[in-house]
Amino acid sequence: MAPSQRSQPVEEQAAMSSPSLAHDRVAIAGHQQEIMQEHCYGGNPTKRQKGKGVHHEEPQRLRACIAGITMGGLWRKLTELTARRATDEELALCHSREHLAGLEAASRTAARLRRPIWLPPGGCLEGLGEDELTGKHATGCDTYLTAGSLEAARHASGAMLSLVDECLTGGSSCGLALCRPPGHHAGRCSSTGFCLLNNVAVAARYAKTRYPHLVKRVLIFDWDVHHGQGTQEIFESDPEVLVLSIHEFEAGFYPNTGAATETGDGAGSGYTVNVAMPPGFGDACLWLACAKVLLPAARRFKPDLILVSAGFDALEGDPMGDAKCTPLVFGQVTSALKMLARDLCQGRLLLGLEGGYASAGLALCVEEVARALLQPLKDDEPFAIKKDLSAKQESLLAIYATRLAHRTLPLRLLEGSKSALVPFGKRKRDVGGSAKEPCAES
Ligand SMILES: [Zn+2]
Repeated sequence: MAPSQRSQPVEEQAAMSSPSLAHDRVAIAGHQQEIMQEHCYGGNPTKRQKGKGVHHEEPQRLRACIAGITMGGLWRKLTELTARRATDEELALCHSREHLAGLEAASRTAARLRRPIWLPPGGCLEGLGEDELTGKHATGCDTYLTAGSLEAARHASGAMLSLVDECLTGGSSCGLALCRPPGHHAGRCSSTGFCLLNNVAVAARYAKTRYPHLVKRVLIFDWDVHHGQGTQEIFESDPEVLVLSIHEFEAGFYPNTGAATETGDGAGSGYTVNVAMPPGFGDACLWLACAKVLLPAARRFKPDLILVSAGFDALEGDPMGDAKCTPLVFGQVTSALKMLARDLCQGRLLLGLEGGYASAGLALCVEEVARALLQPLKDDEPFAIKKDLSAKQESLLAIYATRLAHRTLPLRLLEGSKSALVPFGKRKRDVGGSAKEPCAES
């Protein structure tokens, strides 16, 4: 990996590649859905009502994504899909009927009041009356709902479903959905962390249900800086959906979940993988986590489809995270994922937007990802490690902790490692000449 270099133009890449790979289509969905902009807390900034305030999850995020693809000159190369509206039956693959009914009732309340309402802390709506919904909650509210929010969320999920249909019926094998509101914090009975419906989770279950002859196992890779606790909850007992998240983890950082020791439950034990990174992790750490955890896990799991919860709030300067990633690394990870999908699942790779709240940076990230999807495949190994890669010791330890947590679970993430478990502070000669520090090689 060479994070300092800007990626090559698509045309140059195409000229160096095999013609048969150069014409694979890349789908994009969600960008033309005005209805997704109806989920709006502050309204049009030029007409904002006095005292109404702003929210990080606002319509300008989608405009930033569109601007990034426009600035990159990439639109004419993409196959544009219309995001459809996800039905109750499709959403109920991941969410309880009671919770969906609660969201509908809350939407009616917001419409009657003609103002956004805050969902309760934790996002659980079951059993709440109008008084609770319209009352002032003391603390912990982060997710708003307007009259148009639920329809926006249905189309955000629908954008992913449109990609799944395109991918599995012989169209574009890879694609990107510009979903908002985001989804990975929404659980079976909760809408929280700016998320109403879990777009990527619904897409995973839909793919397995609608196309069982093609899709038995789905890998969900979440690179948003926040742990996707909603996705984890939905699939924690499901051995056919591997949820792998790389995120910032420290006391007090939302959502306070996603430790390496959270590895799934029951039949799903071993199919939840968390890399709990320290604050300030950057490109090299993200790449190493992919190389040391995502790559072996994916190869052992053998997915039929790879979905990505693509949040861009690990970008340096994002107001919602402390990480220091650059736009370039998201393009590089996407290129490597494309290779991985080529090797494992006929190139099936679909990404859905999650977080990312610095508009200018979000535009650059989406441009890099779209460019990477369009680039022809190179004849390379995915997530190859370059010698000059330097990562923080704390991040190396975090990666090792994840592999250690899965050493005897189905993915056996320490298998093949030369490392030995060495107690902290103990010198090499205390444990024998062949042993290494836990983080030195792992
Ligand atoms: Zn996030």
